[in-house]
Amino acid sequence: MHEAAPVNPWVAFAYLVAGVCFILALRGLSSPATSRRGNRLGMIGMGIAVLTTILTHLPQAAPEGWTVYAPASSLPIAIDWASAAEILAAIAIGAIIGLTTARRIAMTAMPQLVAAFHSLVGLAAVLVGIAAYLNPGAFGISSVVVPMIGEPFNVINPVSKVEMGLGVAIGAITFSGSVIAFLKLNGSMSGKPILLPGRHVINLATLAAILLLVAQFAHTQDAWPFWAVVVLSFAIGFLLIIPIGGADMPVVVSMLNSYSGWAAAAMGFTLGNTAMIITGALVGSSGAILSYIMCRAMNRSFISVIAGGFGATDSGGGGAAAIDRPWKRGSAEDAAFLMQQAEQVIIVPGYGMAVAQAQHALREMGDKLKEHGVRVKYAIHPVAGRMPGHMNVLLAEANVPYDDVFELEDINSEFAQTDVAFVIGANDVTNPAAKTDKSSPIYGMPVLDVEKAKTVLFIKRSMGGVGYAGVDNEVFYRDNTMMLLADAKKMVEEIVKAMD
Ligand code: NDP
Repeated sequence: MHEAAPVNPWVAFAYLVAGVCFILALRGLSSPATSRRGNRLGMIGMGIAVLTTILTHLPQAAPEGWTVYAPASSLPIAIDWASAAEILAAIAIGAIIGLTTARRIAMTAMPQLVAAFHSLVGLAAVLVGIAAYLNPGAFGISSVVVPMIGEPFNVINPVSKVEMGLGVAIGAITFSGSVIAFLKLNGSMSGKPILLPGRHVINLATLAAILLLVAQFAHTQDAWPFWAVVVLSFAIGFLLIIPIGGADMPVVVSMLNSYSGWAAAAMGFTLGNTAMIITGALVGSSGAILSYIMCRAMNRSFISVIAGGFGATDSGGGGAAAIDRPWKRGSAEDAAFLMQQAEQVIIVPGYGMAVAQAQHALREMGDKLKEHGVRVKYAIHPVAGRMPGHMNVLLAEANVPYDDVFELEDINSEFAQTDVAFVIGANDVTNPAAKTDKSSPIYGMPVLDVEKAKTVLFIKRSMGGVGYAGVDNEVFYRDNTMMLLADAKKMVEEIVKAMD
């Protein structure tokens, strides 16, 4: 970091309070019951951090007409309102765009939005790094050297050069990786893996080159290694994400989340901002832990995710075409009858429930079944839907009791003793090909054993539609399966009606 500037104790205290709020926010978010409080604490912490940063960094008007930045230790005395207005206008524009996007976005498009936001964090880190390189004096990370002959020039502190180089590299990887993740999740780019020959060698060589170039930049302060780091890092972000396809995108999203945190932390060092370092480190480490948990849930190795291109077989496997095989179709009345006779029903929600926004109707159905003395449980697969916790959020929104909601490992053994497995818009997470078919792109991922229930009721809109991994599901054609082909919300509403 830069030479120790005296730090105003109130500023340090405000950043500390913000940091504590973020930690408590993470703690709150670990359970649905406390997540609202966690979210509120996070917002309060961010409010404190942003306000403190604005107050301590408002541009000061200097007598010669130069704009200098107030050190964190002193509040500005004469504010340069013209520059301050520019900053406040930029904040206002960003806030308006953020607010309208967040209000308008459909719940199902949330993963794309998260990927898009990660890309902005990455880009911001790159831009801060470039600004610091072009104008190190304004960031207080350099000293002016006046040679005997020639113009005075800025020498950037070696440590700051390493921070800048690494920050720019992580930021650029986050940016281009997130753009590809956004395109894949948005359906603008095929979810199929794109496999370059020798990609592991290319990736390793590029990463090694980036590290060498950062060292070269720290040593010489030349422009070419700096810009080469920027270009190569954009390229490697792209190369790391294009080979990942099929059902493995959840890990990518949480991994990019982690990268965006490290990029922000690196820039916190460049800017000398403690709150940014704390926040970045929290996001980086919690994202890394989440990636690790997701990898374990999907039975993938963490290293192969970071190296890129895991699970990257052709997504052609996974069962014969739907048209040729016999299957049974049921009606809402059949479903209502079967479930009312049952002792236990396990509901398995998936992405289709989110698309149809069927969670409220589903809760109503669960309540009705309970009135009939049926035991109702919800089974949540760790990657059901399109983002971590997607199903938990929707069920919580519909006030489904937390005690009725179970994780995969806690409920999977119960399907064998259950009368009805009610699958609503879930597909990949129930596909037995993950257990048996080595050619399937989801092979190795733990799945919910719905086929072991006495009867499986399966809601989807058509027999032709496939899940995210693009593979057919053996369960559709089993003797104990009844397909309920309709929009999930409509079908559940009809089932509820049929129960009266
Ligand atoms: P899938 O994407 O496998 O299947 C969704 C199912 O819902 C399809 O069978 C589809 O069939 C049906 N469907 C879609 N719309 C409707 C509707 N309106 N009404 C009724 N049914 C509908 O979902 P899963 O939740 O089972 O699996 C999640 C997949 O997404 C996994 O492969 C996972 O890896 C991946 N993923 C998960 C992320 C996460 O973090 N959770 C992030 C990114 C990807 P039809 O079209 O015929 O209706």
